[in-house]
Formats: sequence, C-alpha cells, structure tokens
Amino acid sequence: MEALQTNPIYRESRQNLVALIHQIHAKGWSPATSTNYSFRNPEPYQHTYTISSSGVDKSAFTDNHLMVVDSTGSPIPEYEYLRPSAETLLHTQLYAQFPEVGAVLHTHSLAGTVLSQHYRFDRGFWLEDWEVLKGLRGIETHQTKVWLPVFQNSQDILQLSHKIAQYQPQTKPFWGYLLAGHGLYAWGKNLAEAKRHLETFEFLMACKLALMQIEK
Ligand SMILES: [Zn+2]
Repeated sequence: MEALQTNPIYRESRQNLVALIHQIHAKGWSPATSTNYSFRNPEPYQHTYTISSSGVDKSAFTDNHLMVVDSTGSPIPEYEYLRPSAETLLHTQLYAQFPEVGAVLHTHSLAGTVLSQHYRFDRGFWLEDWEVLKGLRGIETHQTKVWLPVFQNSQDILQLSHKIAQYQPQTKPFWGYLLAGHGLYAWGKNLAEAKRHLETFEFLMACKLALMQIEK
C-alpha cells in the first residue's frame, strides 16, 4: 500500500475529505463525535476504502484520523492502531453493491434525525416539487418526486447492511437513505458528487421540516 500513500491524487482526496468533514461539522451535522465518511481508493486498491476513524470530534478532525479498511471493513495492517467506525459495514455494503460509488457520507443533522424518527413506521417519505431536487444526478426537473427510505435503526450493523442490500428502491436514482432517529447516508461517484447529494437531501429535509412546522 506504500504506492497508495505516496500517490498525489490519493493525498489530495484525503485533504479534500478532511476539509469536507470540517464543513459538515460547521453546518451542525456531526454533533458529539458522531458521523462517518469515506471514499473508494484509486486502482489497483479499489476494493479498499479510506474512512474516518471512530470517536473523533469532527471540528478537530485531521489527516491522522483517516484510516484504510478492506472490503470486510477491517483495518489494513498499517492502520490496526486505529478503530474504524461501528458503521463501517454500511459504507462497504454500498461500495460492494454499486461499483460506481466512489464516496459515502453520513450525517446526524437535526432535520434528518427528526424526520427519520417521525416517518419510521412509513418506511420513508416523499421529497416532491422542490427545485433543489435537481442536485441529484439523474433528476432534470423539479416536477418530480423522490422517495427517501427510512430503515429501522439497529446496533447490529451487519444485519442492517444485509437489509439495505436487499432493498428495492421505490424511485431511482437511489442516492441516499435514512436510519430512524439516527441520520442520513448519501453517496456519489466521487467526493464532490456525494457532497452535492448530501447537501440536496439535507437542504430538502430542512425545508420539509420547516413546512410541516408552519402548516400545522
Ligand atoms: Zn451514525
């Protein structure tokens, strides 16, 4: 893996991810050391992933808190001194299922936490007629609706990852899901696209929550 560590594109991706984690923290989407973030490593290491280690205050996150895990979510030998996030398998599941996925971002925002709890028995909710839906690749008009699925939260991450792997999306493209009372997973072909998809869902969830408050 030494060739990976000295690869300038790889070094830049790590810097970009650290900067992105700080931006996400500044928005209030990563309270109390929570949340996790990853990207797929460049070829020939595409079945390994660079991911945030567990338990770090995201405002103080640095390159030293990034680690590399294999397709089973275990740290590669160079990183065995760090602890991967408990939710690492939710990242590896998306990379295994969708070969085009290059980055996965997971937030705990107020809107995502509240809406996922509110709609947990409906197993999801619609995002409909919002201009910003066009932030999702494959959506060309606001005159559409996207189903954002909600899965029951669980501490059994392996079982949860199997459940998500079996999910048949109600609408496509499928760029994100919620865990009830917990938060959002969003992904894309690279960090920039995953960030855009994350911001699309977060912004629209904040809009939906605000609308529900003024309409009640
Ligand atoms: Zn989480």
